[in-house]
Amino acid sequence: MARVYNFSAGPSMLPESVLNRAAAEMLDYKGSGQSVMEMSHRSKVYEEIIFGANSLFREILSVPDNYKILFLQGGASTQFAAIPMNLLNGSGKADYVVTGQFATKAYEEAKKYGDIRVAASSKDKTFSYIPKLGKDDFRPDADYVYICMNNTIFGTCYKTLPDTGSVPLVADVSSCFLSEPMDVSKFGLIFGGAQKNVAPAGLTVVIVREDLLGNARPETPTMLDLKIMADNDSMYNTPPCWSIYICKLMLEWIKNDVGGLEAMKAHNQKKAKILYDFLDSSAMFTNPVVPEDRSMMNVTFVAPSEELNDKFVKAASAAGFVNLKGHRSVGGMRASIYNAMPIEGVEKLVEFMKDFEKNNA
Ligand SMILES: *Cc1c(COP(=O)(O)O)cnc(C)c1O
Repeated sequence: MARVYNFSAGPSMLPESVLNRAAAEMLDYKGSGQSVMEMSHRSKVYEEIIFGANSLFREILSVPDNYKILFLQGGASTQFAAIPMNLLNGSGKADYVVTGQFATKAYEEAKKYGDIRVAASSKDKTFSYIPKLGKDDFRPDADYVYICMNNTIFGTCYKTLPDTGSVPLVADVSSCFLSEPMDVSKFGLIFGGAQKNVAPAGLTVVIVREDLLGNARPETPTMLDLKIMADNDSMYNTPPCWSIYICKLMLEWIKNDVGGLEAMKAHNQKKAKILYDFLDSSAMFTNPVVPEDRSMMNVTFVAPSEELNDKFVKAASAAGFVNLKGHRSVGGMRASIYNAMPIEGVEKLVEFMKDFEKNNA
């Protein structure tokens, strides 16, 4: 069977070369006589994988030396609790910018642990924009400010970071991790589930400034204490071994095949431009997001009626463009065009949309 173009918001496509390499190494990883799924995480051969992935992550994203890179489990959603448990340790206050469903979930979770305030929200316009933020929007004595960098469901993204002064900025980067260069030094902590852009499900990556560690609230479960995870090189217990291995292959692909994060960004910008340019010229499909806040990763669009939306999703799927249905909470369509989506996939999708528009005018 031919491979489809998978526009899923996650889990999502992986590069074919990564899948082929994993297949080739499946039965006998580098002469070990076993697959990566079967080996002890305490073995020399596995240590090379996890430490290799960690140093490649640091190299590719230019992560400063005073930050720890952690490979954890539990998904981004577990960090919604781990973040307040680890960081809400001074004034007990934190300010959240609510720009979509995942930011809302993070806010609701954090409320269990302290004085959590919504600093700004874009709910008034169904999360179709990123609020303009100034220093005055944040409490100067907050323990941290929280944002969701790329809003997977609504297709918005921060293009500039809020000025939080000396208050650490925490960002959920699940759906934009490694899609472009990022100045990690501007953040106290960034985190993301890997299944969107980085690896298969099962791996959660947390990058945290070292001085923020070590003051977790006393009730913090050991498994959520980021200091303990850091002190044990993400191997306090069994890590998500296989996902970390695929993550390493993905990092090698970004470095060697794509040419690093600047080249990755150019590739992603090109794909997004093809799709947004078409949407802006289409008489049938429209993108509901404020243009300056458009996501490069998740492109939402709607046709004029529910009937046409349904018809489009079904026809696209039959033609090999799968998972274009928008999130159940918003409807319409969404094309997630993460790192591994080839340019050709977006070009062909646009051709398909043009034909659909002509035939249903
Ligand atoms: C998918 C997603 C999540 C949830 O991730 P899980 O790993 O499934 O918990 C959180 N935040 C954002 C921005 C996402 O895209």
